[in-house]
Amino acid sequence: MNSGFTADLRIARIALDIPIAPWFDYRIGPALAESLAVGDWVQVPWGSGRRIGLVLERRADSELAPDRLKDIEARLDDAPALPANWFALLRFAAGYYHRSVGEFAWLAVPRTLRTPASPRARSTPFARARRAARTPATALGGSPPALSRSAAGQPLGADQQQVLNVLIDARGFGVSVLHGVTGSGKTEVYLRWFEAILQRQPDAQLLLLVPEIALTPQLAGLVASRFPPDSVAVLHSGLGEAERARAWLAAVEGRVRVIIGTRLAVLTPLPRLAAIVVDEEHDASYRQQDGLHYSARDLAVAAGRESDIPVLLGSATPSIETWRAARRGRYRLLEMPSRMGGGALPQLDIIDIKGLRGESALAPAILSAITTTLERREQALVFINRRGYAPVLGCDACGWLSGCSECSAWRVLHRAPAPARSVRYQLVCHHCGANSPVPRACPQCGNLGLAGLGRGTQRLEEDLAHQFPGQRIARLDRDVANRRGAAQALIAAVHQGEVDLLVGTQMLAKGHDFRRLSLVVVVDGDAGLFSADFRAPERLFATLMQVAGRAGREVAASRVLVQTRYPAHPLFEFLKRHDYSGFADALLAERRDAAMPPFTHQALLRADAPTLDDALAFLRTARELAEPLCGTEVDSPIQLFDPVPMPMARLKGRERAQLLVESGARPALQEFLPHWMAALRTVKTRARWHLEVDPSEI
Ligand code: ADP
Ligand code: ZN
Ligand code: ZN
Repeated sequence: MNSGFTADLRIARIALDIPIAPWFDYRIGPALAESLAVGDWVQVPWGSGRRIGLVLERRADSELAPDRLKDIEARLDDAPALPANWFALLRFAAGYYHRSVGEFAWLAVPRTLRTPASPRARSTPFARARRAARTPATALGGSPPALSRSAAGQPLGADQQQVLNVLIDARGFGVSVLHGVTGSGKTEVYLRWFEAILQRQPDAQLLLLVPEIALTPQLAGLVASRFPPDSVAVLHSGLGEAERARAWLAAVEGRVRVIIGTRLAVLTPLPRLAAIVVDEEHDASYRQQDGLHYSARDLAVAAGRESDIPVLLGSATPSIETWRAARRGRYRLLEMPSRMGGGALPQLDIIDIKGLRGESALAPAILSAITTTLERREQALVFINRRGYAPVLGCDACGWLSGCSECSAWRVLHRAPAPARSVRYQLVCHHCGANSPVPRACPQCGNLGLAGLGRGTQRLEEDLAHQFPGQRIARLDRDVANRRGAAQALIAAVHQGEVDLLVGTQMLAKGHDFRRLSLVVVVDGDAGLFSADFRAPERLFATLMQVAGRAGREVAASRVLVQTRYPAHPLFEFLKRHDYSGFADALLAERRDAAMPPFTHQALLRADAPTLDDALAFLRTARELAEPLCGTEVDSPIQLFDPVPMPMARLKGRERAQLLVESGARPALQEFLPHWMAALRTVKTRARWHLEVDPSEI
């Protein structure tokens, strides 16, 4: 760089981990004037303390008065260099989601590396992370299940080989969609592709994004077993801070080849990034819903573009957005329609439960199917997507229901965890986490006959224990998985044949390969059929296909039984045929007719305040500010909707409302949003607000 020119740029624009502004300006002192560069890590004064910052830009001037500018204290010379492809991704993310580069940058950096060293410390956080004792990459808080996985060197199936050949030939940016049925051997394809890339480029880095590592220890264990232990880094939210800093630094410094991680890992700076795989790309956990909203799947595609490398999106049930891109030829569609080893997909039957009486959760046909399965010493899985004992507590005399005082939601009846023997049950809100004791009498009429209405996982587990005495029953849901290592232990027990009957939520649907499982029962196939959210059927279909895919991986014949009150619903016809493509094409046609995403592009402005009036008033102002920016003519490329309360209006004691903005053309929307955001930042309001681009729930 021309140093004479650089020396004139005496101001550094710096990203700090402080949410009040996207960046902060500091003066560059003489010591750093020649050499300070974009991407450098610095230590700066902040209040009475100091902070670590990242240099985003060097400038000639600042909007701050010169006497308010402070000097950069020091550059952190042992911090890792941050690669250009990372800054390119951050700039894309900031532009696309209308946030600042700094917000995305600091989200990506582990906490220990964001914290300035105390002046007395003998070493820096970077030095400590580099020195930290290595823990094996498979240490995920529990031991990986002992599995007789097919090791490398088995020959690939014909479909796998064909897909692999296409991938190996890929050069530069391009997105491929691997649509492979459950059990088609997608993982093996990912690993062979990685191996092939490493053969031709030994210093390459390969990123594998997975929905939730704690639930797929098999996958992490398998990857770790296929590459030298020192060459794999695992990045997920369950790691301790030191462990996370160590793995992150090894990745950033190019010392590891394969990086497996959950959604946040997409923001890891990887200087030698050569390919990205997003496994189960349709999974909702790729979306960050709190704070900074982003889709890790979409950012993975952007990262591929910025690094000019291939991206692979794998799923048995691709998201409708991905499916459309594949159908239009923007993404390349690769199909693996059959199971490995020629195993058949399970036979799927729809069980009409219109006549089923309230007391029994399962139809007689299902009870006898479970009996038969257990007699054959095979395993059965009973799926219900509601945790807790019963969804709500109610009074049969006056109709009182256990509402949450803070949210527009019911408090769910839960059996208390074992140690609290005196309180057997409690009421818990799944939205704000508040819990309360179960009232002894109805708070409204004093009636003593309060009862849980309906069923969650805990009650179903209890029912099954009565109906199938002597069988080993295990439950997996968020309550169980929150205990560290519990989910892995349970999954390992299933693999080892220590469980006969498995009850659980969609946590059981994700990627597990249970070999003796020959029956899957879906208790409530209707949840989501008639939801107000237009994405509900897509989610229901994906969940049902995924959970059905757990059956029959290694047994000769397997069945899936789905209980419903609407057996004639067209969704079930596609499901019975395992016909994802047919379902997705039909859904795309519907969305096209109704001009819904992915045929239109959306952004949602959400506001919350102590009163609904405040939230709505802000949104009305926002709408007024938007009108002159997008034109009010009928043919305007931007449609503004009216502010409305959110479907669940009250959360954690705040009232929430939203304003939808839509456009048939993404560029028009992206051009409009920054002007609108700038106008909104000048509004004085008691409401808190944020923008969601491509909202997943409306
Ligand atoms: P998917 O992720 O597509 O649902 P998996 O990757 O879990 O499928 O693979 C299903 C099963 O097939 C696994 O037990 C895996 O070890 C096995 N498998 C994959 N590829 C091969 C192969 N080429 N030969 C034999 N078994 C294989
Ligand atoms: Zn009552
Ligand atoms: Zn609540």
